[in-house]
Amino acid sequence: MNIILLGPPGAGKGTQARFLCDERDMIQLSTGDMLREAKDSGTEMGKVVADVMARGDLVTDEIVIGLIREKLEGDKKGGFIFDGFPRTLAQADALAELLAEEGETLDHVIELQVNDDVLVQRIVGRADEARVAGQPVRADDNEESLKVRLMAYYKQTSPLIGYYHAKGQLATVDGLGEIDEVKADIAKVVDA
Ligand code: AMP
Repeated sequence: MNIILLGPPGAGKGTQARFLCDERDMIQLSTGDMLREAKDSGTEMGKVVADVMARGDLVTDEIVIGLIREKLEGDKKGGFIFDGFPRTLAQADALAELLAEEGETLDHVIELQVNDDVLVQRIVGRADEARVAGQPVRADDNEESLKVRLMAYYKQTSPLIGYYHAKGQLATVDGLGEIDEVKADIAKVVDA
């Protein structure tokens, strides 16, 4: 089974993807995590994306599609959870092609719906908590980058909601509830 988790930054995609991974032997594919790893390990690609990410803009389709292609060719376990990918229509089309090449299907696209005020609180809160705990804070978890990230979401990623709706693949879950409630709502979609 292959699932896309769709939603703005701070909607809870990463948290819910980890639950699905742990409980269903699935593989979480977070392009954000992959890009941060590349940046931290100082690869050429990491150097190219560092500024773009810190600003809150999207990196090129070519780069993220390349990262996903590599993973899809590897071990598939119980399937993939796409977390933060696709973020543009070009990425969505590329994903459809890559899955078809692998003989895989896209089974669910789950939109986590939340409002902007909650997102700002969550992300600024996440940064504050990390700071207090002496942990590293994401370079893009500040109000300025967050504005750019939200704009990128509405401009480039939110059209995917209409796209997957039109394809009959979209399910919408209220992302504002408690983590366990959201998890249960996602399970309902996945097990339907
Ligand atoms: P995330 O961890 O998903 O919030 O992603 C952090 C940052 O990585 C984003 O703000 C983008 O700069 C970059 N990024 C992650 N996934 C993608 C993607 N699918 N397409 C373009 N840029 C991405």
